Amino acid sequence: MKDEILSYREMCDQEGVQVLQRGMNYRLNPKYSVILFSQRINAPYKDRIYDDGITLEYEGHDVPRSSGINPKKTDQPQFTKRGNPTENGKFIQTIELFKRGIGEVEIVRAYEKIFSGIWSEKGFFKLIDYKIVVDDNQRKVFRFILEETDIDFIKNENQIRTLKTRTRLIPTEIKKEVWKRDGGKCVLCGSTDELHFDHDLPYSMGGTSIKVENVKILCARHNLQKSNKIE
Ligand SMILES: [Zn+2]
Repeated sequence: MKDEILSYREMCDQEGVQVLQRGMNYRLNPKYSVILFSQRINAPYKDRIYDDGITLEYEGHDVPRSSGINPKKTDQPQFTKRGNPTENGKFIQTIELFKRGIGEVEIVRAYEKIFSGIWSEKGFFKLIDYKIVVDDNQRKVFRFILEETDIDFIKNENQIRTLKTRTRLIPTEIKKEVWKRDGGKCVLCGSTDELHFDHDLPYSMGGTSIKVENVKILCARHNLQKSNKIE
C-alpha cells in the first residue's frame, strides 16, 4: 500500500524475493517492474519528485563497478558488452514500444529507503518517457519519467485495482522528519505494526504542498478509520 512503512524483510516478502539488491528490476513481477528510489543526500543517483507532486524522475544506472573503469565517468549503458539490453535498455525498450502505440505502458512500483532497515512504498507509476542528459561528469545518463497512478496491487488476487483517493507524493526528507518526530509509531495508539505515512488531504480534495505538519504516522487500524470518515 502506498506510503506504507516496511522493514527490508517485509518489502522483499511483498515482492516474493529473497533480496532486493538492484535499484532497477524490470518485470520483477509479471505485471510490473520495481525500482528503489532515493532522494537521500548521499544517494548514488539523482532521483527527484517534480513540483507537480505526482511525477518522479528516476536516474538510470551505471556500468558495474567490477570492470576497472570509474562508473561515474562512463556513459550509462543501454546494452551489455554481449549486446543484451541492460535494465536501462529494457526500460527504454518498453517506453519506445509504448510511445509507438505497440505496447502497453509499463507499470512500476517504487520503494524508498527512509533509514537503514526502514523502507516506504511510494506507490505505482506509469513509465511514460525518458531522456538522455549530460551530467556534471560530462557523461551521458538516462532519466526516466514516471507518473503516479491511482492503482494498487492486490497480492493475494494477483491483480490491480483502482484506489479511492490519490495523494501527492511525500518527499523522502519529510518522511524522515516525521518518522523521527513521531518516534516510529502510530500517533494515536502507539502501535509499531503496519504503519503508514498519512497525509492530511487527498490530492483530489485539493491537498496542498506537503509539509512535515500535515504528515503523521498512523497504524493500519487508525488509517482505515480515517479514510472511512473522508468518504
Ligand atoms: Zn493506531
